This record gives sequence, structure tokens and C-alpha cells, in this order.
Amino acid sequence: MRRSIVAGNWKMHGSREAVADFCKALRRAPLGAELDVLVFPPVAYLGEFVAGVGDAGVAVGAQDLHPAAQGAHTGEVSAAMIADLGGRWVLTGHSERRSEQGESDALVAAKFGAALGAGLRPILCVGETLAQRRAGEAEAVVAGQVQAVIEAVGVDGVAQGAVAYEPIWAIGTGETAAPDEAAAMHGLIRETIGAADAALAGSVRVIYGGSVNPHNAAALFSEPDIDGGLIGGASLQAESFLAIVAAA
Ligand code: PEP
Repeated sequence: MRRSIVAGNWKMHGSREAVADFCKALRRAPLGAELDVLVFPPVAYLGEFVAGVGDAGVAVGAQDLHPAAQGAHTGEVSAAMIADLGGRWVLTGHSERRSEQGESDALVAAKFGAALGAGLRPILCVGETLAQRRAGEAEAVVAGQVQAVIEAVGVDGVAQGAVAYEPIWAIGTGETAAPDEAAAMHGLIRETIGAADAALAGSVRVIYGGSVNPHNAAALFSEPDIDGGLIGGASLQAESFLAIVAAA
């Protein structure tokens, strides 16, 4: 398994034209063989993105999934459908889903398990609000979010995917966690995993998300406990995304 991951989360942005342009730039770019480069476009463009990147060495994923295999769930997408479109990864528990859709730790854990069941690699997103950080609750919140998934799928299950530490106060705000501050939380995530299986604590990949850009990426990625990044805004332009890939 490659050690580092650089993943772009397009959120609800893009168009067919943007996908075509972005894929063209990725096909031309030298991507490190030591790195998993992932893009999470809106699910509407997933198949087109998979076809567009071809064999450029980029894996494509979805930003969310429903935990059920199929059924009467209007508007939802299952893990098997994502895989059928050529998706290989999926985000679970992104803070925007937790806050806008009220997703609980239990639901996120069920989604993580459903993704594994369909052969996808899930990324568990965790992170605290500013109020929680100021109240000294950041560690407990993040450890609890990780623990809920460990209880559902085991540490082996978590290790098949990855964890993204994304402090909510840093997402889309331009305010990045200081590298040592982020690394401390990554250490806590490894401790939580290590309490269940010490051998896996070091091998689970833990990436950082929250206003990563071409200027701050290298400093964040130089921390030994930070295995790459989940990039929102700066992943929308191929130029800035590729600069972050180069920093990793
Ligand atoms: C995200 O959407 O997960 C994210 C980290 O966004 P941004 O990089 O824009 O802060």
C-alpha cells in the first residue's frame, strides 16, 4: 500500500466541461508512483471522470453513499453503484454531511461498513468545531468519531480505508491548523486505533484536510504523522491540485 494520499473533494462544484479540462491536465501531469492521487467529483460526473482520467494513475471516488445495498431511498446512491461506475474510494462522515444532513457517528460507521462490503476504500472524515476546541473537547470528539467506526468494522476495517482529520474551523476558511497542531491530533487518532490494535496504529493512513493550498502543503506533509491531504477549494483547479500533489 502506498503511504501518502492526496485527495480532491470537489463538493457540489464542476460541470462536464470542467471535468474534461481537469482530466486532460491530469493525463499530462507526472504523478508520483509513491502516492495515491484521488478525486471525488459530484457523483453525477463520476463515470465521466473515470473515463476522462483513463490510465493517468488517478483513482476516483464518491463523496457519500447510502448504507443499504438497494431499496426505496429516493435520491441515494449505494456502494455497489459507485463501484459499478468505476469508483474505488468514498468519503464518509464529511463535516458538511454531519452538519447539513445530521449524520450521526452510527450512520457514518454503517456507511463505512457498507463501502468495505462493496470493495470500496472509505475515508472516514473526523474533526471538531471551533467551540469544541475552545472548550477543550477536541480530543474527545475526534476519538469518539474514530471509536464508533472501530466498533462497527474493527481496526482491520479502518485500516483498509483511511482517516481524514479535518478540523471544521479550518474547512473552507483559509485558516489552516498549524502543522504541529494537526500532527498532535493525528497522533491521537493513532492512539485510538492503537488501543484496539497496536500493530495497526502506525500503518493506518491519516491525512489532513482544512484549507490546504500549494503554499502550506509542504509544511503540513513534512510532519511524519501526516500522510497527505484531503483538499477542497484548492482541488478545483488542476494547477493548484497538482502543485499540492507535487508537495506530497
Ligand atoms: C474539504 O472539503 O474537505 C476541505 C478540506 O475543504 P478546503 O480545503 O476548502 O478547506
